[in-house]
Amino acid sequence: MGIFEYAPAPESRALANLKEQYKPFVNGEFVDGSGEPLKTVNPATEEILAEVGTASVSDVDTAVKAARKAYTSVWSKMPGAERAKYLFRIARLIQERSRELAVLETLDNGKPIKESRDSDVPTAAAHFFYHAGWADKLGYAGYGPDPKPLGVAGQVIPWNFPLLMLAWKIAPALATGNTVVLKPAETTPLTALVFAEICQQAELPPGVVNILPGAGDIGASIVEHPDVDKIAFTGSTEVGKLIQRTVAGTRKKLTLELGGKAANVVFDDAPLDQAVEGIVNGIFFNQGHVCCAGSRLLVQESVAEEVLEKLRYRVSTLRLGDPLDKNTDLGAINSAEQLAKIRGLVESGDAEGAQRWTSPCPVPDRGFFFAPTVFSEVHQSMRIAREEIFGPVLSVLTFRTPEEAVAKANNTPYGLSAGIWTEKGSRILWMANQLRAGVVWANTFNRFDPAAPFGGYQESGFGREGGRTGLEAYLNV
Ligand code: NAP
Ligand code: MG
Repeated sequence: MGIFEYAPAPESRALANLKEQYKPFVNGEFVDGSGEPLKTVNPATEEILAEVGTASVSDVDTAVKAARKAYTSVWSKMPGAERAKYLFRIARLIQERSRELAVLETLDNGKPIKESRDSDVPTAAAHFFYHAGWADKLGYAGYGPDPKPLGVAGQVIPWNFPLLMLAWKIAPALATGNTVVLKPAETTPLTALVFAEICQQAELPPGVVNILPGAGDIGASIVEHPDVDKIAFTGSTEVGKLIQRTVAGTRKKLTLELGGKAANVVFDDAPLDQAVEGIVNGIFFNQGHVCCAGSRLLVQESVAEEVLEKLRYRVSTLRLGDPLDKNTDLGAINSAEQLAKIRGLVESGDAEGAQRWTSPCPVPDRGFFFAPTVFSEVHQSMRIAREEIFGPVLSVLTFRTPEEAVAKANNTPYGLSAGIWTEKGSRILWMANQLRAGVVWANTFNRFDPAAPFGGYQESGFGREGGRTGLEAYLNV
């Protein structure tokens, strides 16, 4: 069967309301940061989008002081029902400005517009709606009749889901009565600064949310600041370990959401066409820049050839290119650095003897792109089976028995997520019990809901975000 030709369907770039300059947000106002301004780039074209003012260490101190003042004088004293109104307003404003946010996210991050429009932005709004609902019901959450907030939360987030990770961090913090100093990633600061405008629009009291663009050193100085009560970090395991060392022995409460190398396990009784869709979604969603990506496919030997054949065909139909085109499935890799990392790991797969298949799709010659790639004949000892590639690269291994599937799935230092594809409900439950992963999806993958807690085991980190369980990370319990 042939593949449809598509006419170009570009979303309008003008919707992003891109400004030439963006600034840090401290104590309810946009301020000149005293750090060296950074230039944020559109990874699909390599053009500079905007100049962004950054914070210095002294700005971190100013922001923490503002957050402390807002915490003591206003936010921690406000009844939950009043805090909830602000969260509802923010959620509604995210919806109102959703097209602007989606286009801006796509420009700054490189992800396809259909994902920023249909996944990132609506899920970000959903997190504020969900947590608005908790703000006046904390006494019924199972943490005692009147659980107290922690104080000032320092939050550091990565570039793969810039607005969504911000929502995962800020919504529960505010709902529980904490104030926030957040650092977005260096390569994707823009939607966080539009979120700051939304805080102004919602008339959030000054200092409750502070946003400090900057590099890793600003993240580190938030983590080190003595007047921060809680640290929430999403990013690499390497930086996570560093943060854990810094926080050790202090009163700071810590949650870490780190890397992953999830197994997506396909049994021979699975509906294979559906499984192929799940495999594709598992590893090619967001160019594979997903900590819970299904980057290791474990497929039962008896159906391995059939699955691989269907998979290669399906992957060859994915459309790679202009992230603003509504028909694009895979956009740009977020940075030249990340592209180099992916290339390096793919070369190691070649060198270690795995069999590489790459989609024959056209690849733009400007911008950072990587064609979807599937490695078969992968062994557990190979780097592509052990290390997080964080790109559109799938490693396929096989197994014969459910016990072998479990052993291989658990043979990783990580433990963030896993997928199971089978017709048998009993096998789903048995597997879910055996797999050491914070989230286990059955006959689906990459499903996110603010009501469902998300988090890891082992080197994937600790603490949960989302759901009733996620509130605990921001309460003094
Ligand atoms: P990263 O260095 O861990 O970055 C995450 C965030 O931490 C960014 O805001 C970063 O700032 C900041 N940061 C860097 N060094 C810090 C420090 N010493 N103290 C406090 N904050 C610090 O991750 P990355 O360099 O963007 O990506 C590297 C790898 O991490 C990826 O290839 C991927 O394997 C993994 N990763 C995982 C996730 C996830 O969701 N679990 C997300 C992103 C990356 P800058 O933006 O200035 O670097
Ligand atoms: Mg950028």
